[in-house]
Amino acid sequence: MRIILMGPPGAGKGTQADVIKAELNVPHISTGDMFRKAVTEGTPLGLEAKSYMEKGQLVPDSVTIGIVKERLSQADCQKGFLLDGFPRTIPQADALAKTLQELGIKLDAVINVVVEREALVARLTGRRVCKSCGATYHMLFNPSKTGEKCEVCGGELYQRNDDTLATVANRLDVYDKQTAPLIEYYRKKGCLIEIDGDKAVAEVTQNIMEALKRG
Ligand code: ADP
Ligand code: AMP
Repeated sequence: MRIILMGPPGAGKGTQADVIKAELNVPHISTGDMFRKAVTEGTPLGLEAKSYMEKGQLVPDSVTIGIVKERLSQADCQKGFLLDGFPRTIPQADALAKTLQELGIKLDAVINVVVEREALVARLTGRRVCKSCGATYHMLFNPSKTGEKCEVCGGELYQRNDDTLATVANRLDVYDKQTAPLIEYYRKKGCLIEIDGDKAVAEVTQNIMEALKRG
């Protein structure tokens, strides 16, 4: 299946993607993860993305569209994909439509995970991520059973530098202005599925899987 997982920062896209990618056996393509990897590795892409990311701004469309286009052309995407955090602007959505048309493929669904702003702030500021394997935790809502270490690999947990209160507020404003218009964009195309993300993780997953099966 070819799926876009949409929703504001902190809606639970990454958390859900971890389960859904295994259920559907498709690659999880997170532009945020791709940029963070590039920053860590100090590549030219990382150097360019870093200044936008730390301010909570979007990386320019020209850069972002290029890396997704390249990723979608790789062999493992032929069986489908789960896009997370892309598209985030109308030009990105238009570019994606064009790329898919060129590749001769169609989207199956756009899932919009809905969570209100207050809950998003609490989720983002309490998020902790494993430095080694990327597993995501929350200090209150989903703490690691092994304290400061990752349950999966024993790696060190850290707070993303864009998960501080000031940057979170900016990211949510950027979402409202630049990304939220995509909800209407995909509703008009008739492929939007709205899911209440303010429920327990497993319940959200179940609702997404059921909605995908209904088509
Ligand atoms: P996104 O990828 O949309 O930015 P994440 O999946 O990283 O969001 O989730 C943001 C934070 O919220 C994480 O700390 C995660 O553990 C927590 N979280 C995710 N889903 C839920 C949920 N349904 N209820 C409570 N907390 C959640
Ligand atoms: P995320 O991990 O999805 O929260 O993304 C972290 C940061 O990466 C964002 O705040 C942006 O700076 C950048 N980013 C991720 N995806 C995109 C995108 N589709 N367009 C522009 N910037 C992005």
